[in-house]
Amino acid sequence: MFGLIGHSSSFRDARITARDLGFEDLADGELDLWCSAPPQLVETFEVTSNTGKVIEGTYIDSCFVPEMLSRFKTATRKVQNAMELAQKRGINITALGGFTSIIFENFNLAKFQQIRSTLLQWDRFTTGNTHTAWVICRQVEQNAPRLDIDLTTAKVAVVGATGDIGSAVCRWMANRTGVGELLLVARQQQRLEALQQELGGGRILSLEEALPEADVVVWVASLPQTLVLDGMALRKPCLMIDGGYPKNLDSKVVAEHVTVLKGGIVEFARDIGWQMMAVADMANPRRQLFACFAEAMLLEFEGLHTNFSWGRNNITLEAMEQIGAASLRHGFSALGLGPSPSPAAPVAA
Ligand code: NDP
Repeated sequence: MFGLIGHSSSFRDARITARDLGFEDLADGELDLWCSAPPQLVETFEVTSNTGKVIEGTYIDSCFVPEMLSRFKTATRKVQNAMELAQKRGINITALGGFTSIIFENFNLAKFQQIRSTLLQWDRFTTGNTHTAWVICRQVEQNAPRLDIDLTTAKVAVVGATGDIGSAVCRWMANRTGVGELLLVARQQQRLEALQQELGGGRILSLEEALPEADVVVWVASLPQTLVLDGMALRKPCLMIDGGYPKNLDSKVVAEHVTVLKGGIVEFARDIGWQMMAVADMANPRRQLFACFAEAMLLEFEGLHTNFSWGRNNITLEAMEQIGAASLRHGFSALGLGPSPSPAAPVAA
C-alpha cells in the first residue's frame, strides 16, 4: 500500500471539498476549527501499471491549508499528525505532497521523530523530489524543440537553482541534457557559488538579469505574491516551466511568445478511480497528478520501500535515471504541449 499526504490549495477550497465529502462540521468551520482538525483518510483506490501490476493507495488530507503557513506550531502538527496516521495504517511508502515536504524540511521536523506513542520511521516517507526533478527536465527536453528552441545553444535559467529540485535540475541539464548555458538564480550568494563550483559552470544572475536572456526558464521556487513579470521583456520564443507550488506563473506572464507549462505534472496511461486530483485543478484529474505523488506509486510498483528522496540537495543523476526509467515502464508521461502523449499501453498479462 502507498500513501499520498496532501492538502487543499486554499481554505476556501478546503471547505468546498469538505462539504462534497460530507464533513459538514469542517465545511462550516472557521480557520481555528481547521487548525485543530485531525488528518482525514479520504479515499482508497487501485492503480494498474503498464506491466499489469496492481497496487492500492490511500489519500490522506492533512487538513493543512496554506493560510496556516504563518502558524509554525499548527503547520508542524498538521504534517506530523498526517505522517503518524500513514504509519499507523501500515502504509509502506507515503509521499509528502504540496507544502507538507517544504514544512518538513524548513521546520526541520526530522528532529522530532517521536509523535505521541509513534516513532516515525523515515524510510516510510519520500518527498518525491527526485521524480519531480526528472519530470521537469523531461518537460524541458521534449517541449523546447517544439518551440524551435535548440537546447544545445539555449540559455536555461533555473529560478530556485540551489533548492532540492532546482539543484537536481541543474545537475541534469549540465551533465545529461547538455544545454548551451545555465543561468543560476536564487537569493543566497554563498549557496549559488557552491552550486556553481559543483557544476563546474553556470552563470549567477539576479532574476531581473536572467529573465531577458533565457530561452527556457525553469521556475522551482514558490512565487512571491507581489512578483510582477514583464512578458514583453522575455525572449521570443520563451518556454517557462512552472515547477513551483502553487502553479500560478501563467497568471503573471501574459505574452503571446511566452509558453508556460505546468511543471512537475505527469499523466498516467489510464484512469485512476480517485477524486482528489479534481481539487488540485488538473485538466484531466483522472490521469494527471503531481510527480511527487507518482514517486510513491513508483516505489510501491518497484517494491522499493525506502525514503528514496529525503533531505536537501541529495538527488543524484543515477537516482533520477532510476526513477525516470520506472516512470516510463509503469505508464507515466510528463505533461507536455499539445495532445496527450501516451495512449494506454496494453496491460501485460
Ligand atoms: P527548496 O526550499 O529546497 O528550494 C527553494 C529554492 O528557491 C532555493 O534555491 C531558494 O534559494 C529559492 N528561492 C526561494 N525564494 C526565492 C525568490 N524569491 N527568488 C529566487 N529564488 C528563491 O524547495 P524544493 O526544491 O523542495 O521545491 C521548490 C518548489 O517546487 C516549491 O515551490 C515546491 O512547492 C515545488 N514542488 C512542486 C512539486 C510538483 O509540482 N510536482 C513537487 C514538490 C515541490 P534562496 O533561499 O537562496 O533564495
